[in-house]
Amino acid sequence: MTPKKYPLSKWNCSLTDVDPDALDAVLQLQRAGYAAYIVGGGVRDLLLGGHPKDFDISTSAKPEEIKQLFGKRCLLIGRRFRLAHLRVKNKIFEISTFRAGDTSTGALIVRDNRWGSEEEDVLRRDFTINALYLDPHTEEVIDYVGGIKDIQAKILETVGDPIARFQQDPVRMIRLIKFQARLHGFTVEPKTAKALTLCKDEILKSAPARVLEEIFKMLESKKAAPFFHLMNDLGFLKLLFPCFEHFHTTQTKQLAQNYLKALDALHKENKYVLDRSIQLAALVFPILEQEIAQLTHDRGVAPSIHEIANLSQSLLHGISSSSFSHFPKRTLALCHLALVHQFKLTPMKSAVKLHSRFTTHFDFELALDLLKLRAHVDHDLESILSVWIKEFQRRMTRVKEHDH
Ligand code: ATP
Ligand code: MG
Repeated sequence: MTPKKYPLSKWNCSLTDVDPDALDAVLQLQRAGYAAYIVGGGVRDLLLGGHPKDFDISTSAKPEEIKQLFGKRCLLIGRRFRLAHLRVKNKIFEISTFRAGDTSTGALIVRDNRWGSEEEDVLRRDFTINALYLDPHTEEVIDYVGGIKDIQAKILETVGDPIARFQQDPVRMIRLIKFQARLHGFTVEPKTAKALTLCKDEILKSAPARVLEEIFKMLESKKAAPFFHLMNDLGFLKLLFPCFEHFHTTQTKQLAQNYLKALDALHKENKYVLDRSIQLAALVFPILEQEIAQLTHDRGVAPSIHEIANLSQSLLHGISSSSFSHFPKRTLALCHLALVHQFKLTPMKSAVKLHSRFTTHFDFELALDLLKLRAHVDHDLESILSVWIKEFQRRMTRVKEHDH
């Protein structure tokens, strides 16, 4: 098949928008006689006028040949999907060898290490908009599958038959939902949308760790709220995380969304990504709060901190045992601490006690992040939040003075 080629200048962008170290790596591969391109999300986001966060590279060189060319800076990784990691300064570029996936049958892919041609490599990619190649030497975008047309029309469409592609690798369905949430104004092509409904249950055949990784990537993506909204509407949340049922009932749905909107807002204003335990807490805290309110209502008296700790423990236990993917122990343990600390930061019965020993706990900062999140949802908490932030800063100054 002859691909269509478009000059990069057509999109008002140039190679200066591409990471110079990624360009160097591609040109180095080309000088060594291999075919090499920038591929995937980097090209897609560049053409959409965004600032790509990473640039992946695809080449005809085999992993060992890549290693030989780049030497110590290059590490070969992965079993299911063998690829090279190239370290330049503090960045890592993924360099993958052209692969031939069998794209016509729906057999589940267990390993994907059959090398292929440039065209075959395009055909095994998930969506047309992710299957464009950028050649930095000719400054052209190479399109075998109509990805340019879909970028212009803002359409999400699988490369090849959507049912077969989802059956081969069900995680592609979560990826579709992720792009739907992330790419503003995009719609899903009707056959792809129908296949998503038909193949939904297949998600339970995928590797739980890969699903969890996509979920956490979305929790920190600043688009967690639209992502979970879609995951719920399309029935994936019920299949994968049935315990987050507050998303499903009309009365509590808005509250669950508000916590995720707060998470997105915090990630937009923060220079750092919140710990995964706090990302999990954004999903769990509203459920815990509701359980506490119910208990208080039933007994006419608020539960003690020990009772709250027990509630949190059994809630997290229920979540981890009913979910398709297992949350790491560390994430669950820190999430529990941050949840329970909330009721010391903002006690239910008594006035706040500003004992500064509490602020020296290593998990205090995590708890403070969760309180920031809560203050985004409930503005009445802003004053108590600033009291704790001041207390924390005072302690930090004291620690610094002590160190000098
Ligand atoms: P992001 O912006 O989240 O990094 P991305 O599209 O670059 O999005 P990556 O996970 O970095 O996603 O993957 C790089 C490229 O590899 C994709 O653009 C796509 O071409 C291909 N790819 C990734 N996952 C799959 C998959 N499950 N099936 C087929 N192709 C895939
Ligand atoms: Mg990427």
